[in-house]
Amino acid sequence: IQAEELHRVYRTAAGLTHALRGVSFSIMPGEFVAIMGPSGSGKSTLMHVLGCLDSPTKGRYLLEGRDIARCSQDELADIRATRIGFVFQAFNLLPRTTVLQNVMLPLLYTSCPVGERERRARAALAAVALPEEFFDHKSNEISGGQMQRVAIARALVNSPALILADEPTGNLDSVTGEQVLDAFAALRAVGKTVVLITHEPEVAAHADRTLYIRDGKLFETYEAMKAVGKV
Ligand code: ADP
Ligand code: ADP
Repeated sequence: IQAEELHRVYRTAAGLTHALRGVSFSIMPGEFVAIMGPSGSGKSTLMHVLGCLDSPTKGRYLLEGRDIARCSQDELADIRATRIGFVFQAFNLLPRTTVLQNVMLPLLYTSCPVGERERRARAALAAVALPEEFFDHKSNEISGGQMQRVAIARALVNSPALILADEPTGNLDSVTGEQVLDAFAALRAVGKTVVLITHEPEVAAHADRTLYIRDGKLFETYEAMKAVGKV
C-alpha cells in the first residue's frame, strides 16, 4: 500500500467536510498494521479508499504497484473481488445459510471450478481455526466470535493479498475478540497483509505497527501526534 497525500472532501447540503487532509504512508506486503483513531477522525473514509470502494479527491494511491486512479470500474471490481478481503464489525454473513456456503459465496463470481470451491472454503475455515463440526451450522446459529471467524474465512477464500478489517472486534467481548485477533495474527504468519481499523488501544496492540489518525491527518507514531497537540 502506498498512499501519497490523500485527500477526501465530502460535499453535502450542509457544506464541505474534509475527512482526509493529506494522508501519506506505506505498508509493506505481509505487515499487520493497525490504524487507530477516535470516532469521526477519518478511519472509515480511509478504509473505503484503501479498499477501492471510494476515490480520493486528491492524491495518489498505489496498491500492489497499480495506480488506482488509472483503473477502470471493471478493473476496480476485479481488484476488490480478488486482491482484497473485507471484514466488518457487523460480520455481514447471510443468515439461515450454512457456514460453508457463506465462505464459498465469493467464489461464485470467479473462475474457481465448482469442485474446487468447497475445498477452498474448508481450507479458509481451517486457517481461522473454526472446528469442522460448525461448517454445516447456519451462520446465525453460532456464537459471535465464531461468526467473525467465518467472516474472516470468507474474506480469505479468494486468496487476497490484503485483508482490510473495520472494527472487527467491535461487537465481541474481550475474550472472543482475542480469538479473532489471533486469527488475524495467523494470517500475517502466512504472508497476508492485514490492515485493522480500531479505536481501541488494546486491539491495536496486536498489530506489528500502529498508525494514528486525528482530524483527517495521519501520524506514524504517538509522539508525532502529541507533538502537534492532537492527544
Ligand atoms: P471514522 O470512521 O473515524 O468515524 P469517518 O471517515 O466515518 O470517520 O468520518 C470522517 C468525517 O467525514 C466525519 O466528519 C464524518 O461526518 C464525515 N463523513 C463521513 N462519511 C461521509 C459522507 N458519506 N458524507 C458526508 N460526510 C461524511
Ligand atoms: P464463544 O465464547 O465461542 O463466543 P458462546 O459462549 O457465545 O461462545 O457460545 C457457546 C456455544 O453456543 C458456541 O459454541 C455456539 O455453537 C453456541 N451458540 C452460541 N450462540 C448461539 C445461537 N444464537 N444459536 C445457536 N447456538 C449458539
